[in-house]
Amino acid sequence: MLYPNLAAASRALSAQWRWPHFSVRELSCRCGDRFCSGQYWHDPDFLDALEDMRARVDRPLVLTSGHRCAGWNAAVGGAPLSRHKQIAADIQIAGHSREALLDAAVGAGFTGLGLGRSFLHVDRRARPARWYYPGSERLWIQ
Ligand SMILES: [Zn+2]
Repeated sequence: MLYPNLAAASRALSAQWRWPHFSVRELSCRCGDRFCSGQYWHDPDFLDALEDMRARVDRPLVLTSGHRCAGWNAAVGGAPLSRHKQIAADIQIAGHSREALLDAAVGAGFTGLGLGRSFLHVDRRARPARWYYPGSERLWIQ
């Protein structure tokens, strides 16, 4: 479900928020008022999977991107049909083992997996997909 801005999302969701390691703020659009005011896409199943993944690695997951409004998605070079326009997360790899992070994502039920140089993209989709970004493949193939 789409909330038009951070204030509306926070107001609507604070009482029912049950994902202690993540916040609306960090998952909302980061365009910084260029195109929106913290638009946010709420998906409890996605958040459950993130918490599950976090429990599996047993250390913090630092998110570098969550929801993106259309303007921000285009500005950062996201695919036109990017899952970030609903909800997806790019998780910083620093501080983690790539293999452990990927295993945790799979175990938590993420089915869209983008294996980057400095981040792991995760989303939930009906038809599983796994991809690399330019220059990232050699880092993941042992
Ligand atoms: Zn935005």
